[in-house]
Amino acid sequence: MGAADSDADADADTDDAGSANIDDGSAGDPLLAVDGVVKTFGGLVAVDGATFGVERESITGLIGPNGAGKSTLFDCITGVHAPDSGTIRLDGAEIQGRSPTAVARRGVGRTFQTPKTFRGMTVRQNLAFAARDQVGERAFNSMFRPNTVSAEEADIQERVDEILEFLELDHLAEEYGSALSGGQRKLLELGRVILMDPDIILLDEPIAGVNPSLTDDLLDRLEELNDRGRTILFIEHDIDVVMQHCDHVVVMHNGETLASGPPQIVQEDDRVVEAYLGGYDA
Ligand code: ADP
Ligand code: MG
Repeated sequence: MGAADSDADADADTDDAGSANIDDGSAGDPLLAVDGVVKTFGGLVAVDGATFGVERESITGLIGPNGAGKSTLFDCITGVHAPDSGTIRLDGAEIQGRSPTAVARRGVGRTFQTPKTFRGMTVRQNLAFAARDQVGERAFNSMFRPNTVSAEEADIQERVDEILEFLELDHLAEEYGSALSGGQRKLLELGRVILMDPDIILLDEPIAGVNPSLTDDLLDRLEELNDRGRTILFIEHDIDVVMQHCDHVVVMHNGETLASGPPQIVQEDDRVVEAYLGGYDA
């Protein structure tokens, strides 16, 4: 640091516990800003004006009863669907209506509710395949610059090894996809996404169907990715998990974003409680 560092108390005052503020997506400088997004399927309005922001380096939970429109909203953000109206901004740039590849290139990673694992490939091969897929457009270099590609291949193997270790899947590296449990496949799916090194990772029910011991691993890995600067937006049904791991929560109901704020809103906001009680069988 430079000279005038004598009385740097300004920073100290801002770190005030309990200063969580309600965010409607318009405040601050969110990494992802969803504004008035509508998506219909024929006469059915799946997403109905969803509006919220995902703060940089936050873990944000997207919750709501089945059929609320959460997965469809993910599809709109990741380019699977073009919204009928509304804007989706990533780091200020509009991305709605762009292709999944274009959105991924801009730094949005995504896992699916049903993992995409190749059953006939080993865990290591699955990850290496995903990595090669990402450098695919550069593979044409191999005809002209073979050295570049073999350097790239070594780099891929190194990254795959790192990720296997990070996810504690190294002992399963040579197992075939078909031999993995559902939970292990979800971890592998996360590995596939981490390989892209995205700025923001969207996860659709990452721990649903995962056995409790792996659940903790998976959540620890998400926290660690977040500590390393990745922003995380995840759809989750388990309120305890949301309360424990999220900095921020967005509640969807009937395609609308009903509330947005610190995790406590889940317990304190009457409309949220109502949406949940109305959405699930007691
Ligand atoms: P959630 O993920 O919150 O459970 P979804 O986004 O999957 O909700 O679904 C929201 C609504 O949109 C549901 O009524 C669902 O049946 C409908 N829907 C989702 N995808 C499609 C589709 N491709 N075609 C027709 N309807 C769909
Ligand atoms: Mg869903």
